[in-house]
Amino acid sequence: MTDPTSRDMTSRKLRAVGTTIFTEMTALARRTGAVNLGQGFPDTDGPPAMLAAAQRAIASGLNQYPPLDGLPELREAIARQRLQRYGQDAGDILVTAGATEAVAAALIGLCDPGDEVVVFEPYYDSYRANLAMAGAVRRPVQLGGEGEAFAFDPDELRAAITPRTKLILLNSPHNPTGKVFTRAELSLIAELCVAHDLIAVTDEVYEYLVYDGLAHIPLATLPGMADRTLTISSAGKTFSATGWKIGWACGPANLVSATRTAKQFLTFASGTPLQAAVAVGLDEELGWVAALRDDMQQRRDRLGAALVGMGARVYPCEGTYFLQIDARSLGYDDGVKLCHDLAHKAGVVAIPAQVFFDDADAGRRYVRFAFCKSDAVLDEGIGRLSKFSS
Ligand code: PMP
Ligand code: GLN
Repeated sequence: MTDPTSRDMTSRKLRAVGTTIFTEMTALARRTGAVNLGQGFPDTDGPPAMLAAAQRAIASGLNQYPPLDGLPELREAIARQRLQRYGQDAGDILVTAGATEAVAAALIGLCDPGDEVVVFEPYYDSYRANLAMAGAVRRPVQLGGEGEAFAFDPDELRAAITPRTKLILLNSPHNPTGKVFTRAELSLIAELCVAHDLIAVTDEVYEYLVYDGLAHIPLATLPGMADRTLTISSAGKTFSATGWKIGWACGPANLVSATRTAKQFLTFASGTPLQAAVAVGLDEELGWVAALRDDMQQRRDRLGAALVGMGARVYPCEGTYFLQIDARSLGYDDGVKLCHDLAHKAGVVAIPAQVFFDDADAGRRYVRFAFCKSDAVLDEGIGRLSKFSS
């Protein structure tokens, strides 16, 4: 008899999903002492008033389950934020354990097995796992890296929609490309949703991290979309508190209800004192967030210049924490090999972006660097990169 502990017991549904690349690469950075420009988390804290509010909330005994939908003061703050910033009526609001849980619960709650979901490739890695959990089928549409960087072909999007399509899953500002979808692109997506009676689920976790005077436009604010869009965001990136895992989903009651049905049996509810603090963040600390955005733009420019200095082709980055390069410009045809050499020869960890692709060949050339790091870490990373040669 074979040793039962040697068998892979992961369900067939999830076997292809594996360990997240972020866990893998952060462990590699720890093991080798490399500078971690891989996993997207900042290494400086969020607004002091928000941190103090969390401490006060704990000290005041706000430590038991919050209501399933979230603390009323946070839901009210989210409603104000969507209205003031975007003119968007948030509709129903459900607070979740990060945007990760919101996306998972939305896909599990909205999709039946066999339903098709159109998603722009490359796409954030949790989507693949969540679609597998939901039994839904991915229909990727490429964001091409040649020509006009990371544009999609409207005909490819039209062709991806079939009678089995349930929803379009959109992430803008987009991880890993740094693309911010334009109003024209969003208008086409909206027209197709309306024409084919589709739902949209939007992941807007980088909504405040948009550079060069560009604007983030929620898909829900386009004509015909308010009644068919579930908008997802989170406090992690906005307030440099990725470990707090306070996110939310908002929109029409029927979409939020489907999401809530799944969410109540994933975590039920979480993070009571942190929810109270995020309400303070949204109401009082958006000035801090604007300064964070300016600061991130400068970090993008510094890391971008260093990568160009190495001879890399650096793709334009309009938002998020991330810059991508073409590994071929450094003499590599495989981003995995480049990331391996960067870790072991230069002492810098980056992410081979092919993990965000169904089609590994299409993604082979991309390597993603996170610039959301402190001056000390970024300077050390830049210094090490400048000495790298394959
Ligand atoms: N969506 C995208 C596109 C992300 O990059 C991330 C991770 N930073 C998440 C969702 C997860 O957000 P959260 O940490 O709030 O769960
Ligand atoms: N969103 C982060 C990134 O893209 C990682 C989050 C995680 O580790 N799951 O780097």
